[in-house]
Amino acid sequence: MNSEKVRCGWCGTDPLYVKYHDEEWGVPVKDDKTMFEFLLLETFQAGLSWITILRKRENFRKAFDDFDYKKIAKYDQSKIDLLLQNEGIIRNKLKVHSAVTNAKAFMEIQKEFGSFTEYIWSFVNHEPIKNIWQTHKDAPATSSESDALSKDLKKRGFKFVGSTVVYAHMQATGMVNDHIESCFRYHEV
Ligand SMILES: [Zn+2]
Repeated sequence: MNSEKVRCGWCGTDPLYVKYHDEEWGVPVKDDKTMFEFLLLETFQAGLSWITILRKRENFRKAFDDFDYKKIAKYDQSKIDLLLQNEGIIRNKLKVHSAVTNAKAFMEIQKEFGSFTEYIWSFVNHEPIKNIWQTHKDAPATSSESDALSKDLKKRGFKFVGSTVVYAHMQATGMVNDHIESCFRYHEV
């Protein structure tokens, strides 16, 4: 890690957080598997800090079959019970159930639109929205696009997809570039 680089303030100096900021956050995601991984992690984040989720990410990967939505959509009660005993993840009953519900709804969208990526990117006309912030505190918690996407996802049966969660997802997957203007990643993503 090069500490002389200017970065968005939110990632601080935690190496895991810095690596995530430098390599993943804001890079446009155009494949369904990665989209689902982020979506699952974001829904588990609701009410918690992102670094908490990031530290548990590899536990989630193991527990949720490498984020394979086809497998997750088929989880039965015994698998759910097992997940609820797994101390490595967030043991929240509603969130664990939502992973299964969302995997099913995710695949319904794939059927309808060809891919989830095609569907979700249509909410920003298939181009990242490039903002210009001076500090990360300037970035909003929601936007008109996240409101519309959240509403549509809910209509399609998704859980834990409030506009704030959806906006965080849009930032993570590069649908919106919210790196601050002075961040070295602003022009790279
Ligand atoms: Zn940044």
